Amino acid sequence: MKTYLKKINRENIDNSEDQLTKVEVKYFDNFTKDGPSYYPEYKIIKVSNFFADNVKEKSELKEKLELERIKELDDFLIMRNKVYASRTFPQKLKIMIFERDDYTCQMCGKHKDLLIKEGAHLEADHIVEVVDGGLTTYDNGQTLCISRLE
Ligand SMILES: [Zn+2]
Repeated sequence: MKTYLKKINRENIDNSEDQLTKVEVKYFDNFTKDGPSYYPEYKIIKVSNFFADNVKEKSELKEKLELERIKELDDFLIMRNKVYASRTFPQKLKIMIFERDDYTCQMCGKHKDLLIKEGAHLEADHIVEVVDGGLTTYDNGQTLCISRLE
């Protein structure tokens, strides 16, 4: 499966060159299927001290991280502003909505880890229903839990 969003731990990026040796790059390029829903499998790359003595590599890395950050932001803004023709939320948009809502049901407040234990899962749902003119967009999406038994 293709790489979707790339998440970067930004805390250290803007700091001094020394801080760059501690940067963690968090990303996902795969999904785990749990019931009918997919969740991103995160991987973390730690940038080691290997770079500490090499200024050129450090600046290249910094540039790369910035590019990834900009790319991530671009993708996010495009998807955020798009109105989708389908009634169902595309997988990538779902992930963005889940991420925004911290993988927590907006009705009962339960986190996905607890919901999975209870045999439920998360879904993206329209805040304003389609029949009432609600659109399939990032802003009109919310994270809700749905029982697998339904
Ligand atoms: Zn719920």
